[in-house]
Amino acid sequence: MLLELGRDVLRPVEEQRLRLGPATYRPRCENTLDVEEEAMSDTREGGCACGQVRYRLRSDPLFVHCCHCLNCQRQTGSAFVINLLIETDRVELLAGDPAPVAVARSGGKKQKIWRCPTCQVAVYSQYTSARLRFVRGGTLDDPASVAPDVHIFTRSKLPWVEIPESVPAFNVYYDTKKLWPAASLERLTALTTR
Ligand SMILES: [Zn+2]
Ligand SMILES: [Zn+2]
Repeated sequence: MLLELGRDVLRPVEEQRLRLGPATYRPRCENTLDVEEEAMSDTREGGCACGQVRYRLRSDPLFVHCCHCLNCQRQTGSAFVINLLIETDRVELLAGDPAPVAVARSGGKKQKIWRCPTCQVAVYSQYTSARLRFVRGGTLDDPASVAPDVHIFTRSKLPWVEIPESVPAFNVYYDTKKLWPAASLERLTALTTR
């Protein structure tokens, strides 16, 4: 009976995933389109488990983090988090009203995590700038449409997680200027000088 109920609750999201079809993945380094074209060609949608919260990303993310830090492991209850870094105004809320929850991190800091008020699934978070969202990759309708551009905090990576050699990995963090594509750096500059 419980199982039946669980399946009913999950069905809307699962059906949504099935309707989407295969992902069209383009390597980010070859992306030379300007923002307008990019925004039209690469929108992704996602949401929470109960279907109340739905969002659309107006463009590709700036960069995709796979974070293996202890905070992310605790927050997700898993081995790592996939974060799509994207301008806050490019995360379009289609339905629902995610509520921010201040979550304690190591070092006495707090991080805001937006959750569906009903099923409490976390859809995105904010670290420092309110202009930048960290969208949780697992909440996309098609999670396979993104792959990490970088692995960070691998010092606490679980030993059975293997990182492909083709993807940069860092014990702690990295230099944005050295790693981000030029188009993303331009977007970041536009964000900070707004
Ligand atoms: Zn929900
Ligand atoms: Zn982390």
